[in-house]
Amino acid sequence: MPHKKIAMELDKKIALVAHDNKKGDLVEWAKYNRVLLAHHRLYATGTTGEILERELGVTINKLQSGPLGGDQQIGAKIADSEIDFLIFFWDPLEPQPHDPDVKALLRMAVVWNIPIACNRASADFMISSPLMDGAYDRLVPDYDLYRTRKIAGSEGGGPGAAESAEGGSLES
Ligand code: PGA
Repeated sequence: MPHKKIAMELDKKIALVAHDNKKGDLVEWAKYNRVLLAHHRLYATGTTGEILERELGVTINKLQSGPLGGDQQIGAKIADSEIDFLIFFWDPLEPQPHDPDVKALLRMAVVWNIPIACNRASADFMISSPLMDGAYDRLVPDYDLYRTRKIAGSEGGGPGAAESAEGGSLES
């Protein structure tokens, strides 16, 4: 599939999210990396954002609390290219009431090929990457092929359209 480039600027738009049992980890990590994080634009789900603002003394764009829609808001921002980096310390040992939202957020990050760190070691490697200090074009599949796919039974579609879509012989 062909790709398109989405530019990530020098100052990245970073979303920070941590489940309750992981908030301590995220605060420690963010404090340690305060200087590296400082020039980026920071976003967070509600409670994570409140705690980080208090502990780090930095301004965070706070969204709804995760279980109240915050994860979905971040996912929507990823789809709109308003977030281009995700630090998400999710809890593998505790069921979450908003598990579908967690899954959806992780899925959006993969759909739009943004870097995701789900634990401290990944976050350490990513925040210290030389790529953090420059512009970066991330490659995203050219979803126009998907948008213009033929749907059986709709205008331009019809019997056999699904097979032709699978066969990759779409016309745009
Ligand atoms: P919170 O949400 O920062 O509002 O606690 C995190 C989450 O569970 O997604």
